[in-house]
Amino acid sequence: MSYILTLNAGSSSLKYAVYRDGAAPELRAVGQVDRIGSEAAHLVLKREGETETRELGAADHARAVEAILDICTPHMQGAPVAGVGHRIVHGGTLFDRPAVLNADILSALHRLVPLAPLHQPHNLAAVRAAMSAFPDAVQVGCFDTAFHRSQPWVDDTFALPREYYDKGIRRYGFHGLSYDYITGELDRIDAEDHHRRTVVAHLGNGASMCAIKGGKSVASTMGFTALDGLPMGTRCGQLDPGVLLYLIAQEGMGHHQIRDLLYHKCGLLGLSGISNDMRELEASPRREAKEAIDYYVFRIRRELGGLAAAIGGLETLVFCGGIGENSALVRARVCEGMEWMGIAIDPEANAAGADVISTGAVTVRVIRTDEEGVIARAVSAALAA
Ligand code: AMP
Repeated sequence: MSYILTLNAGSSSLKYAVYRDGAAPELRAVGQVDRIGSEAAHLVLKREGETETRELGAADHARAVEAILDICTPHMQGAPVAGVGHRIVHGGTLFDRPAVLNADILSALHRLVPLAPLHQPHNLAAVRAAMSAFPDAVQVGCFDTAFHRSQPWVDDTFALPREYYDKGIRRYGFHGLSYDYITGELDRIDAEDHHRRTVVAHLGNGASMCAIKGGKSVASTMGFTALDGLPMGTRCGQLDPGVLLYLIAQEGMGHHQIRDLLYHKCGLLGLSGISNDMRELEASPRREAKEAIDYYVFRIRRELGGLAAAIGGLETLVFCGGIGENSALVRARVCEGMEWMGIAIDPEANAAGADVISTGAVTVRVIRTDEEGVIARAVSAALAA
């Protein structure tokens, strides 16, 4: 018997899950270390309906991974962690599938840091920490960009001079692990229909949509970075690049200020001035909260039309992510008046968050996404190989 650990590292948090390896890896525990980089990091482990917590004091990613090892070891009956799977935001043009990580691949991934400066360094810090805490384990990288490598050139490029495309300024797309999971689930649910045209709306704190045809990504709303497309909790989504020129020229803003604005102060938070959290906005009586939701829904509907056009029609629409899975209001408003597209939903099924909520020609599904499960299966496959 052996175990698989999955790690999903952000700037100040490290989410993890523990699986028992087998033909289908079995989830045994989940947890999170919060406030990494502060003096008061905090670890949570949830298993078998119980929650354990530990205060770690000052902790970096290395200390956080050691603490995960410490808290999980007593529950593993002496069996080893044979593989560690890492969510890595950027695989550039190099990876269209998971990869067993070694020194050469890590150097290549370091070269991609400028493309994802807020995510990639933390992902790679977790890899280094896991290599040192689990020196005998196979380390597997699973890339959020990999699923989108199938996109045709017109969806891979911007209309910049070609030299910029060659330098890597392309539309990479993200949330690939979630889309991979959803595609697998659709295959499982309806294995016959390999040519279906599907749009998946991954609506979480980060949000994007993807048009999938025959199981492959054709177009997505996120592009060069995780800023483009839909408005998100705190990120702007689609923005006229002229706005940036204006902010630089007229407001005298520099790179760091603009980066902070676009990543941390926009989206639902910026529009509402209240919160980045959809639950709070839905509960708020204030006009600004309603307008923020109006804009959010409007952009999803616009993208839905564009993505369906990119794949020549639509058979399936999937909602996933924290908002997509839980907000009946957002689902209802996205689907409202979309009968012309074949989209109609049953209010009761929607309110109940049923697996299928549609009554029209387009099947509208709510699927709980599972990015960790995708990573665990990739590690299991690497171990079997
Ligand atoms: P995620 O990043 O996938 O965890 O999604 C986080 C988002 O899901 C936040 O905006 C939450 O407010 C939202 N969310 C979670 N549960 C609900 C719910 N019951 N109703 C509306 N939004 C929700």
